[in-house]
Amino acid sequence: MKAQLAFSLALAFVAPIAFAQRDFSNVEIKVTPVAKNIYMLEGSGGNIGVSVGEDGILIVDDEFAPLAEKIEAAVQKLNPGKLKFVLNTHFHGDHTGGNAAFGAKDATIIAQSNVRKRLASDTRNAKTALPVITFDQSASVHFNGEEIKLMHRGPGHTDGDSIIYFTGANVVHMGDLFFNGMFPFIDLNSGGSVQGYIDSVGAVLEKTPADAKIIPGHGPLGTVDDLKNFHSMLVETTGIVKKDIADGKTLDEIKASSLPEKFNDFGSGFIKTDRWLETIFTDFTKKSAQ
Ligand SMILES: [Zn+2]
Repeated sequence: MKAQLAFSLALAFVAPIAFAQRDFSNVEIKVTPVAKNIYMLEGSGGNIGVSVGEDGILIVDDEFAPLAEKIEAAVQKLNPGKLKFVLNTHFHGDHTGGNAAFGAKDATIIAQSNVRKRLASDTRNAKTALPVITFDQSASVHFNGEEIKLMHRGPGHTDGDSIIYFTGANVVHMGDLFFNGMFPFIDLNSGGSVQGYIDSVGAVLEKTPADAKIIPGHGPLGTVDDLKNFHSMLVETTGIVKKDIADGKTLDEIKASSLPEKFNDFGSGFIKTDRWLETIFTDFTKKSAQ
C-alpha cells in the first residue's frame, strides 16, 4: 500500500500528461463507511469523500482521469442517484483528474477561485474539467439534509485549498492539508506556505468537535487525535528547523542533525525526512535569499 501511495504521489507532481501513460487497470476502489451517509473511497491518488442520499450524490475530489468509470461504479453501488456535485479540495491532478469526465456528465464542479485559474492555465484540460462555481473564502452546498461548508484559509498546501465540513455527519475532508501519519507535500511553487499550512490545520482543530471523523488527502481515515498528532509534528519539526536557521546552519547541516526519533515513521511516506526538512528550510529562508 505504501509503495503504491508513494508511486501515485510521485506521479502527481509531474506533468499531467504522464498520467495517461500509466496503467490503472489493476486499481481497485476501496469503500470505507465514515459516518451517517458519508463514505471514503481510496483508489490511486487523493482520498475521495462521498455524500449519498435523497438528493443524489456529491463527491469531494476525483483522483486520476482513467479511474472515473471505476469511481462512478463504486459510487453507484452506494446509491443509484445522480452525481450532482464535485467539490475539489485543490487543483493537483491526483485530486481533479476525474473532473473532465464528471463535468461532461453535467456534475457541477465547485472550488476555490485559484483552482479554476490553475486548471484553466493548463491547455490540456478540457473545458468540462473546470469548476463552474468558484468562491474566494467560503461557500456552502445544502445537500442530502445537511450544510456542506467549503472553507479557504489562505496559502497552505497550494494557494487554492478548501477544507470541507459535512456539518450534519460531523466529518471533515482536509484535502492535502492532512497527510495522515506522514510528512506532507507542500507545493511552494503553487502558492503553498509552511506557516499557512500549520495555521490552517490549527484552525480546524480549534473548531472541530472531538468526535469528528477526518478524511485526509492521503493515508487512512483519521480522528481528531490523528490530526492533533500531525499538527504537533508540524509545529515541532518546523520549530527545530527555524531555530537551526537562526543558528546559521546550512540545509546540509540541518539534514545531518536528525530529527527526534519519534518522527521517523512520518518519513516513511512519499515525502522523506530530508525532503520535509528542505521544504521548511526553503520556505523560511526564501525571503532573505531573494
Ligand atoms: Zn495535492
